[in-house]
Amino acid sequence: MDLTFTPEQQAFRAEVRAFLAENLPTRLSDKVCKGLRLTKQDYEDWHAILNARGWLGVTWPAEHGGTGWDAVQRHIFEEETTAAHAPRIVPFGIAMLGPVLMKFGSEAQKRHYLPRILNGDDWWCQGYSEPGAGSDLANVQTTAVRDGDHYVVNGQKTWTTLGQHADWIFCLVRTSKEGKKQEGISFLLIDMKTPGVEVRPIVLIDGEPEVNEVWFSDVRVPVENLVGEENKGWTYAKYLLTHERTNIAGVGFARAGLASLKRIAQEQSHNGAPLLSNPFFAAKVAQVEIDLMAMATTNLRTLAAAAAGQAPGAESSMLKVKGTVIRQQINALARQAVGPYAQPFVSESLDEGANVEPAGPDYALPATQAYFNNRKLSIYGGSNEVQRQIISKAILEL
Ligand SMILES: Cc1cc2nc3c(=O)[nH]c(=O)nc-3n(C[C@H](O)[C@H](O)[C@H](O)COP(=O)(O)OP(=O)(O)OC[C@H]3O[C@@H](n4cnc5c(N)ncnc54)[C@H](O)[C@@H]3O)c2cc1C
Repeated sequence: MDLTFTPEQQAFRAEVRAFLAENLPTRLSDKVCKGLRLTKQDYEDWHAILNARGWLGVTWPAEHGGTGWDAVQRHIFEEETTAAHAPRIVPFGIAMLGPVLMKFGSEAQKRHYLPRILNGDDWWCQGYSEPGAGSDLANVQTTAVRDGDHYVVNGQKTWTTLGQHADWIFCLVRTSKEGKKQEGISFLLIDMKTPGVEVRPIVLIDGEPEVNEVWFSDVRVPVENLVGEENKGWTYAKYLLTHERTNIAGVGFARAGLASLKRIAQEQSHNGAPLLSNPFFAAKVAQVEIDLMAMATTNLRTLAAAAAGQAPGAESSMLKVKGTVIRQQINALARQAVGPYAQPFVSESLDEGANVEPAGPDYALPATQAYFNNRKLSIYGGSNEVQRQIISKAILEL
């Protein structure tokens, strides 16, 4: 197994770096670096810049306007963009729905929706989870009942990330109560402007209305919005999740977080010296850095296996657990480093140009916000407890 980058891959890295130096607006990278709040427009601006270069469809084949990159190129792109503090690509259209439509959608759906995702015409959100269907996703209860050439949808989705910005939602709905739970689920595309759709914000522990409840009351959805076959949605849902879990280790995000932690610990003083020179604190930073290096190597091994044509197995569960634990440890150390300044939390200060007196140094609030916000990492994308169950069965054979 070769874990070194080829000359072509190194040239590709240089190309990405040069592109970012030229095209990533400082306004955006400053906001990401300082942990300020990104608006819908910020994401759309960045998507448009990538799309103009043909680099928005990172996981898409060239025939659909994507990059056609392999796993290693995607990894390099992710490392470089996070190091440069670029906004993340919002995953719902690009990383989740796009691949499902390419594999299971009708020709008309592909022709209509795929270019609109790339051009930023439609902002998508993911309507999988419900109050009683999270880890046990097959338990979805939102119903879609056929009425002529429409489905009538009733029920509730929850934790819908950035649903407040969305034009469309892709949903798992129950179209049959016969047989196994998995066999009565369909995959439906719903226009959020349809009468009967209501979005209610959920404010998270960090004060952000990042997720929502989405309610459906007698929402009429044309049958042509069904993806694939009725009652086969579970197959498409699982396929989508394999794409949701690509790049699950988040090595680039962890590295950016570690660099920021070191900056903070260098700025913060302890007994008249930088906190980073305190042996106890420095040892904790060193330990998390060692863990990150080990995880990055495991990630490269999985990439090398993927490049050799092997499908990732339970290793992705290991990467999910390790990657998210490391990021949460980095966040926890940054919060400790800012000490009492983690206490006053003035959410408005995260807005660009906010006219609010900051409490403490300007890095304190984003460090605190990241600490609270990233509690989510071990919950979504398959909770860490569920991943540990997979590891215990598939790897340890317990
Ligand atoms: C910030 C955030 C954003 C999200 N965004 C979206 C989104 O955009 N769209 C969407 O559809 N969903 C989204 N989700 C939902 C997410 O997928 C679910 O929260 C997740 O699947 C867990 O489901 P649950 O919250 O219902 O918890 P539950 O499944 O009820 O789990 C509760 C607890 O029990 C544990 N548990 C459950 N089953 C097992 C088991 N078999 N073995 C061991 N432990 C177990 C879990 O680990 C957890 O600790 C988001 C969640 C969060 C936190």
